[in-house]
Amino acid sequence: MTHPGTEPSLDLAALLETVQRNERASKSFQDVELRLIGAQDWCAFLEGMFVYLPEVFGLTSAGLWLDARAPLLRDLLESGQGCADLDANVKSGAQGGFALSRLCAANRPWLGRISELGELEPAASETFFGAQAATGSAIVLPLLSRAQVLGYLCLSSVDPARFDASMGTDLLMRFSSVAAASLDNVAHREHLRKTGVTDPLTGLSNRRYFDERLNQEIRRANSHAAPMTCLFIDIDHFKQVNDTHGHAIGDVALGAIGTCLKQQVRVGDTVSRYGGEEFVALLLCDLPDALAVAERIRRAVETLEVHDDEGGRIALSVSIGVAAYRVNAGEASAGTPEGQARSLLDEADQAMYQAKHQGRNRVSLLGVRQ
Ligand code: GH3
Ligand code: MG
Ligand code: MG
Repeated sequence: MTHPGTEPSLDLAALLETVQRNERASKSFQDVELRLIGAQDWCAFLEGMFVYLPEVFGLTSAGLWLDARAPLLRDLLESGQGCADLDANVKSGAQGGFALSRLCAANRPWLGRISELGELEPAASETFFGAQAATGSAIVLPLLSRAQVLGYLCLSSVDPARFDASMGTDLLMRFSSVAAASLDNVAHREHLRKTGVTDPLTGLSNRRYFDERLNQEIRRANSHAAPMTCLFIDIDHFKQVNDTHGHAIGDVALGAIGTCLKQQVRVGDTVSRYGGEEFVALLLCDLPDALAVAERIRRAVETLEVHDDEGGRIALSVSIGVAAYRVNAGEASAGTPEGQARSLLDEADQAMYQAKHQGRNRVSLLGVRQ
């Protein structure tokens, strides 16, 4: 016979332990949630998910499946941000998503042994939970934002008894909504960052980006005495192209020239659309090299194949002004990097006008007649 009072006090100890365990889990979730909410970019978000979260909970692996049908998520997946090797833990294949969605009926989390993941092929299970945890247990957590599933978070432990279907999921559900909101937030941030400096017509960076980059490069050139040149590139008689073939064909020509410019410069150089039919390039090389690149661009544009609606070839050409940055130029503007950037760009612009006056479809250096 049990002594009256023993059972209740045992229950109390068990209850206390459960409360304390829940409190610890809640605190750990909060720590991870704060990380995710505070993530300023995609890489920081992935670090929270794939480094911090497994560390805090002592997990074997963490992976994420994202729904690429959501436009912002597709952008994130396609942009390949290169976050060390963290990107490799993000999947988006339609089949995997289908299997995960079937596991999480009614968008509820799934918990259990990995060996019971009947819905997933062994290869898929390895993709989502890693080979190490094959005999362990796992959680599949739908990430829900405004009733829409953005993806599934897949967590695993080598311990087969760590997660099972009888466990409470309240904390998990709260974590899911915070993680989904953070993902949404990061996707918007990345979208703004990308579209804020990208010209939609040509896909090149825009003037805002170029000005910023030019200032940075001037600072770098000043401290390392590194060579740098600027090209100002203006399409010849472009108004005539629009007037003859229409604005839509004009847009196609602009896009083709943008792509061509990008192909002619080296990795690390910058090409931007500076305004209507004007482009600028920042080349990290000296004047002779830059003149060679400019001539290569001029010729590549001249031979571009752009056609009108009837298939007729549209002759295109550009006039290019070249200016080399001189670190110790000693001009009045030499005071600030911004002033130096402005005078370099002005010089390239003037050289471009000189090329126009000299007959267009040519490369020009200020004061030098070709
Ligand atoms: P020049 O050789 O002297 O540079 O002559 P131009 O006709 O190129 O120069 P102008 O400044 O007279 O005309 C520029 C033209 O570029 C007029 C404008 O409609 C066109 N343009 C600017 N932005 C766009 C654009 O986004 N799309 C299209 N289709 N045309 C554009
Ligand atoms: Mg112009
Ligand atoms: Mg022009």
